[in-house]
Amino acid sequence: MLLTPGPTAVPEFVRTAMSDLTLHHRTPEFEAIFEEARGLLLELLDMPEAVILASSGTGAMEACVTNLTHSKALTINAGKFGERFGKICNAHSIDYTELKYDWDTPANVDDVLEAIEQDSSIDAIFIQICESAGGLRHPVEQIAKAVKEKNSKITIVADGITAIGVEKIDTTNIDAIITGSQKALMLPPGLSMIGFSDEAVKKIEQKPAGYYFNLLSEIKKQKTNTTAYTAATTLIIGLKAILSKIKQDGFDKLYAKTELRAKSTREALKAIGLKVYPKTPACAMTTVYCEESNALRKQLQAKYNLNIAGGQDHLKGKIFRINHMGLVEDFEATWAVNAIEKAMDDLGLRKFDGTANKVFMENNFEK
Ligand SMILES: *Cc1c(COP(=O)(O)O)cnc(C)c1O
Repeated sequence: MLLTPGPTAVPEFVRTAMSDLTLHHRTPEFEAIFEEARGLLLELLDMPEAVILASSGTGAMEACVTNLTHSKALTINAGKFGERFGKICNAHSIDYTELKYDWDTPANVDDVLEAIEQDSSIDAIFIQICESAGGLRHPVEQIAKAVKEKNSKITIVADGITAIGVEKIDTTNIDAIITGSQKALMLPPGLSMIGFSDEAVKKIEQKPAGYYFNLLSEIKKQKTNTTAYTAATTLIIGLKAILSKIKQDGFDKLYAKTELRAKSTREALKAIGLKVYPKTPACAMTTVYCEESNALRKQLQAKYNLNIAGGQDHLKGKIFRINHMGLVEDFEATWAVNAIEKAMDDLGLRKFDGTANKVFMENNFEK
């Protein structure tokens, strides 16, 4: 059972949709599929414009950094993915300042305001909605609102790779929102998507950058339901399939179920003495601080057929992360907390008494 916070399991109906003959991308047949996928994507992102790129999520991060920073970037680093925005700036010799936090600590509105007050050359801010390194939720909407009140010209770029399709994001003050195929959208890796505000499109038009990741050429082409270069046709067919299904079930229903599953999991794990790592946990995943994380994950894999993620860098062997993104069934989520409780017993950490399952069920099915 794959319960890592990306890649997530690809549902059977999506695999089936993608198993058909390869289409040529410059055909009316494919353009009709593209148009439908794009329409659904704009709805999901709640933005007036969007592009679909053939790259992993990092490609979209890079495209936003190069096309939306004109003088200086402010990057928020509370983990691996926030750090990556800085590395991208470095790779392109783009001037940037970084606000750094512990991996369990969300960015603070006042720190961001202070940073832009101290340096008037900052024209773009890059932040994760959920920083997946520690499973942390940043207060992106509050930061975006406060920044726009001070200076509406500053572009807000939100990496929503583990937030889009997880929860409803208020995009009122966000200029670009990034997502990828292999997390909440339950597709194989290989697609990234960016939603844009009208202001972001204008800024891109002023000074488009790069060749493959030139967002102006993509925006122009994709408005006409084609792509600048060969489209990732199979994945876009999958995107259309998954977004149609999510829409049919109701976006809000997916968000509510994901939130409840995340809460039920956190409560279940707390009830068996485990510590939720981030101060502000995101709904995309539950991250637990646990010194025996490596042994536990090994046991879960070997005996309970459960694959969850560990940590990176200084949190290697210190945390584990359980995915809540996508169409996770209740029986899968409850199996995860059950298996963790049993594996803790196997390792002599805590005697099994079924508490995790009980608490999960009580929370997940409360009346
Ligand atoms: C997975 C992820 C990315 C993108 O990583 P890729 O490996 O390039 O797809 C970016 N940001 C966050 C927060 C992520 O979780």
